Amino acid sequence: MTDDVLTQDQIDDLRTTVAGLMPGVRADLEALTRIPSVSLDAFDQAHVEASAEATAELLRAEGLEVEIVREGGRPAVIGHVDGPEGAPTVLLYAHHDVQPPGDDADWDSAPFEPTERDGRLYGRGAADDKAGIMAHVAALRAHAGRLPVGVTIFVEGEEEIGSDSLPTILERHGDKLRADAIVLADSTNWALGEPALTTTLRGLIRVVVTVTTLDHGIHSGMFGGAVPDAVTTLVRLLATFHDEVGDVAVAGLKSGKASDLDFDEARLREESGLLDGVEVIGTGSLLDRIWAKPTATVIGFDAPSVAKSSNTLVPTASAKVSIRLAPDEHPMEAYAAVQRHVEAHTPWGARVQVHLDDQGAGFAADAHGPVYDQARAAFTDAWGVEPVDIGVGGSIPFVASFAEKFPDAAILVTGVEDPDTRAHGANESLHLEEFEKVCVAEAVLLARLGAMPR
Ligand SMILES: [Zn+2]
Repeated sequence: MTDDVLTQDQIDDLRTTVAGLMPGVRADLEALTRIPSVSLDAFDQAHVEASAEATAELLRAEGLEVEIVREGGRPAVIGHVDGPEGAPTVLLYAHHDVQPPGDDADWDSAPFEPTERDGRLYGRGAADDKAGIMAHVAALRAHAGRLPVGVTIFVEGEEEIGSDSLPTILERHGDKLRADAIVLADSTNWALGEPALTTTLRGLIRVVVTVTTLDHGIHSGMFGGAVPDAVTTLVRLLATFHDEVGDVAVAGLKSGKASDLDFDEARLREESGLLDGVEVIGTGSLLDRIWAKPTATVIGFDAPSVAKSSNTLVPTASAKVSIRLAPDEHPMEAYAAVQRHVEAHTPWGARVQVHLDDQGAGFAADAHGPVYDQARAAFTDAWGVEPVDIGVGGSIPFVASFAEKFPDAAILVTGVEDPDTRAHGANESLHLEEFEKVCVAEAVLLARLGAMPR
């Protein structure tokens, strides 16, 4: 491209620089991974303090002004360094807390002892999201002393437990975080060698539905046949959440369209572990179904257990239902639609209550404009192939928080993961060769954003 903002030599120089930095980046990543910074209450929070401090130290070493902030939750690290006069400011996000390791016996090497096997670095947090922190640090190092843009780094300490104090942090420290572009490095690439920008995320509501038919349990032989029990009533109600083919049948819920990528049933079966003979449900492309359409999943059920059951008409029963939402759905409008559905479909005049247990907005990026153009170019520079736009069927509540707080900033959701990363699972790992490309892409992105005409 003759009108490109960088020359091929500049790009090649950055690639060479990053390659030279990788041994140090890897050593620092391993040191971070050795800190068992599980943010869940039941774990020793001294480790989360230690990972915040270690992150702060890495940023101070790159010349950033750094503070550790707490707003009723876990410590977050904020660092900043000015760019050249008039240059844009880029906010780089990652998180330093990790998921619990689960059972050590499920791991092939100790979860907090980073270990390389077959080109992958295994360890809890080696990818999610300590590699995100180190991708940002690598990009800073690649431009050491002559950053092309202003950089603010925000490294959260409670992403894995739901970012509860993030809204307060954004409210009280938002001025320090203001930026022209935001890079949230906590998602995945499409495949090894195939980079991606995550441009949609689904939202979520979780409801508890409780059905009551009797004021006390009664003998099923005496009254069964004329008096409805709550479990049967609730099961019939839950069955109305889907139609015959398995699409969600709650009127008023939005459905979106996913990007048009190759994803066939064989890959779905392989990646999900769906048993032979069990049908795939729903309609539309498979990616529409897992990224852009609503779902309804019963995730909990309160009724007598099989072992403790007796011949009784059960008076009350509850189910917890997790409902994923189209990326642009408003969670409270979805909740209202679910309430209307439940009221209209509860059989036999049973009493029913719906309680909202949790909610989070999805995200649909406006994936156009100069920042996205430069991001796509930077990914292409790093991988040699153009990135694809992907959706993620899950929800990352902090993305919506940033989108709401900074409506004018371009939001880029990038990632260090690949389909074999197993974030949150046993044997989480980072593909090291791919990680170098992630670091190159971010270094080139900063150079490109700094070189944009202004
Ligand atoms: Zn993460």
